[in-house]
Amino acid sequence: MEPGSKDTQAPSPFGDPSADLILRSSDGVEFRVHTLYLRKSSDFFDDMLSLPQPPSPNTPVPVVDCCETSTTLHAILSFCYPSMCPPTTFPNARDILDICFALEKFLMLKNAEDWIKRLLTNAVTSNPVAVYILAHRFGWEEEVKLAAKQTLFINLYELIDLRSNLPVEVLDRISALAMHRLDAYHTACWKLVQERLSAQYWVDRILWELVMNANPDSDPYRHTYVFQRNIATCCSELIVADCEGNTVNYYVKKWWKAYMDDARAAVDAPAYEKVLTTETMLRAVRMAAECRTCAPEAMKVLHVFTEQCLKVELKKQLDKVALKID
Ligand SMILES: [Zn+2]
Repeated sequence: MEPGSKDTQAPSPFGDPSADLILRSSDGVEFRVHTLYLRKSSDFFDDMLSLPQPPSPNTPVPVVDCCETSTTLHAILSFCYPSMCPPTTFPNARDILDICFALEKFLMLKNAEDWIKRLLTNAVTSNPVAVYILAHRFGWEEEVKLAAKQTLFINLYELIDLRSNLPVEVLDRISALAMHRLDAYHTACWKLVQERLSAQYWVDRILWELVMNANPDSDPYRHTYVFQRNIATCCSELIVADCEGNTVNYYVKKWWKAYMDDARAAVDAPAYEKVLTTETMLRAVRMAAECRTCAPEAMKVLHVFTEQCLKVELKKQLDKVALKID
């Protein structure tokens, strides 16, 4: 791009001839700015611009070369200008990282905190790792937790992939301990979900008591339907439970066990909601359909178990997994 050409001039209001400073981005775009706005928003610019400037009217407007891209500069300047609204979404995580690190450099984090927190919250679904890194660096606990929780929707490989795609200079700005804590949290949640999606686990830990206690008024019949101690009924499958050293025989409906097996096999990330659906229940329901007694009940039993027992237990336990921050 040629200096002074249309392509190198930032859009309004950064083409104002009355501006007293030009900021030139790393990609060669010139922003004509009023230093008054910059000094008000940034201690960095306030200090820099407080140095005496040559007073002569014939002196051309001074130009400052910046290492920030035009996207970054535009976002930051639109925060500085009271007439403008800074953008709150960016499709590219790299832009958000660049903006945040530039704000840090320009000593604007405190002033821009509300804006940046909104930016991070909006980006948490598409790139939780980038948001985690930034929030961790700036010490924003709520956003750190939000981002960590969002990583539960992706599996470990996707987590590593998101991290590998970040520029090295970004990775360089986060401690290995912070990254390790995110991995540890993700792994602990994953392990917990895998454990809970096992028929043996429910029987061993007598988690079936949860089934007994789940809203007993709505359907008393179901409480003893899936789990029977020592009593084999139709469609039963024996699971030997280890109750504090004593073995106890439980008979569970084999289609319920099939549902647990299918759900466990289908879950590929700690977030389980997308798997605990009617679709995952289909094989179990087909098995139950072969039994006259179970056929009319199976779908209902699986739904009640999923909604009132399994999801409640998973949520309760996942909420207990701590993410270490300090
Ligand atoms: Zn049956």
